[in-house]
Amino acid sequence: AESPCVKCGQCSAHCPTGAIVENDETSIVWDALHDEEKICIVQIAPSVRVTVGEAFGLAPGTNLTKQIYTALRRLGFKAVFDTNFSADVTIVEEASEFIERFVHKRGALPLITSCCPSWTDYMEKEHHDFLDNFSTAKSPQQMLGVLAKTYYAEKLKIDPAKLYMVSIMPCTAKKYEISRTEEMYASGHKDVDVVLTTREFARMLKQSGVDFLNLPDGEPDSILGDYSGAGTIFGATGGVMEAALRTAYFYATGEKLEKVEVEAVRGLEGVKVGKINVGGAEVRVAVAHGLANVGTVLESVREARKNGDELPYHFIEVMACPGGCIGGGGQPYGVDNERRKLRIAGLYSDDRDRAVRCSHENPELIRLYDDFLGKPLGPKSHKLLHTFYTARPLYKR
Ligand code: SF4
Repeated sequence: AESPCVKCGQCSAHCPTGAIVENDETSIVWDALHDEEKICIVQIAPSVRVTVGEAFGLAPGTNLTKQIYTALRRLGFKAVFDTNFSADVTIVEEASEFIERFVHKRGALPLITSCCPSWTDYMEKEHHDFLDNFSTAKSPQQMLGVLAKTYYAEKLKIDPAKLYMVSIMPCTAKKYEISRTEEMYASGHKDVDVVLTTREFARMLKQSGVDFLNLPDGEPDSILGDYSGAGTIFGATGGVMEAALRTAYFYATGEKLEKVEVEAVRGLEGVKVGKINVGGAEVRVAVAHGLANVGTVLESVREARKNGDELPYHFIEVMACPGGCIGGGGQPYGVDNERRKLRIAGLYSDDRDRAVRCSHENPELIRLYDDFLGKPLGPKSHKLLHTFYTARPLYKR
């Protein structure tokens, strides 16, 4: 708790001797799968689908979503969910927050994304003067966990105490996130029980003997499984911003963006900035990835505040890992910029191929709000899908 480490796991991805490794929890998951008292359910993060193939010799960016669904069922999971679905939910909540702050002037600007637990940890330790700027929306992993143990359990009349949620994630920080605050127990149970990195997942597939690369296509469960193109690009730097702008534009204008791709926030430059016209108003955005790049963006906001100048940005996305989650510390070894570009290209291609490309148009998400949550930022959404942050300054010599 008193260490400046933000748990991103980059050290384990780049350790030249392999001396630093993630805390391997595969045996815990095997035990759970063989425990008759538990109903094991699982979710996969956006980026995992385009990286896990590398552990089996495939090119970076190869999209194995459908094989992963089948493999997870063969491993014994009773329900297979997709974190891309809850990425859509995160976007709808976050875009609503942005409209509240930008259009209705209720709340601090710039709004800063909070779905990366390494970034939230870093902010609480080093940049806690921005506490009020943080989106209170939980990360997609946590939203899926709580929705599985409430909405899904209710729909299927399952005792949520029996549900055991495993999530397959790109980083080690997600292992930390599941017990971060009491909000991560919003279902009345631990919302996510255990987290495996992509590398641990690949290890489990190999241990199982499943012929992963030759599996037939599978499908996720329909509840908490269907996703939009906006949900899938969450795994790339700039993806959260682009997805949020697609929905915020619609919320502000009632119209669909003619071109949903927001080129200004794409690419591997450490800091990307852009201006987007939303219903006649100019929205200034910044995207930083790799924590070394955050300081300059936040410093320019501090400077403007101090001088009483106009804010340089209204909306900021930060991801701790270079390239975003496709470059996460729990991804297959050997990542460099070439590999990052290919992984990102895999996600953009998945986005292009989706029939629905904006989060708010996802039919399963619309059903979730109609049947269960009510509306974005409504009382139930607040209780289940939002969290809080605390300043935790490090002792400085
Ligand atoms: Fe994890 Fe993604 Fe944040 Fe990296 S950028 S620490 S992979 S959530």
